[in-house]
Amino acid sequence: MENSATDIDALACLRGLQSSGTIACATRGMDGAPRVRFLSGLHFELDAVYLLASRGMPFARQLMRDDRIQLLSEARPGVSVRLTGHAVPVPEEEQVRWRLVIFDERPRYRDLYPAFKHDDSLVFVVRDGFFEWLDLVSEPILRVYVPFGNGRVVPSGYRIGETCTRCGTCLSSCPQHSIVSGNPFRIVQEHCLQCGACVKTCPRQAIVAV
Ligand code: SF4
Ligand code: SF4
Repeated sequence: MENSATDIDALACLRGLQSSGTIACATRGMDGAPRVRFLSGLHFELDAVYLLASRGMPFARQLMRDDRIQLLSEARPGVSVRLTGHAVPVPEEEQVRWRLVIFDERPRYRDLYPAFKHDDSLVFVVRDGFFEWLDLVSEPILRVYVPFGNGRVVPSGYRIGETCTRCGTCLSSCPQHSIVSGNPFRIVQEHCLQCGACVKTCPRQAIVAV
């Protein structure tokens, strides 16, 4: 099943993130280096993702120090969904409520980590951020950025700047044919692999990373 960019909204991204059941979660370790692990103690609402941890876990301690987080999942083979945002503890008076919601959905957590039964557990919530939907199966590929909550999209990739002289040299370098004529030429971001192959072909250094 192929999607178009207009099909991909925050709800589609949430469903895609949820669909695999096991989600990779990246944080920054105490030394600043990346840390990634699989998570399944999660609960999804339309406007939030809740994560269960134990206060002593490195994962929780890392988030208390630096709340930046990425969640990554495979919506279906070749299609990934990534949520970039900030994970903050839910207010103390709501901790038990969300812990019990996650226990109900993931009963094995009741026994797997006994500490979760007590005040040692800590539920975080991600409310604001942005999704990146990346479909490498479609032709051309499809990459869509979608805000989540009040989050702001921070795109990556390449842009063509005002120094473009419209010479057309870059056109044949793009494996996705995602560069289109104009003044200046333009990269169709939805179909860009972000491979950078076009950059070195430009005699005016008009193609720059963002
Ligand atoms: S090669 Fe550079 S100057 Fe020429 S069309 Fe492409 S971006 Fe513009
Ligand atoms: S970064 Fe790669 S896919 Fe994107 S426009 Fe340049 S050559 Fe094409």
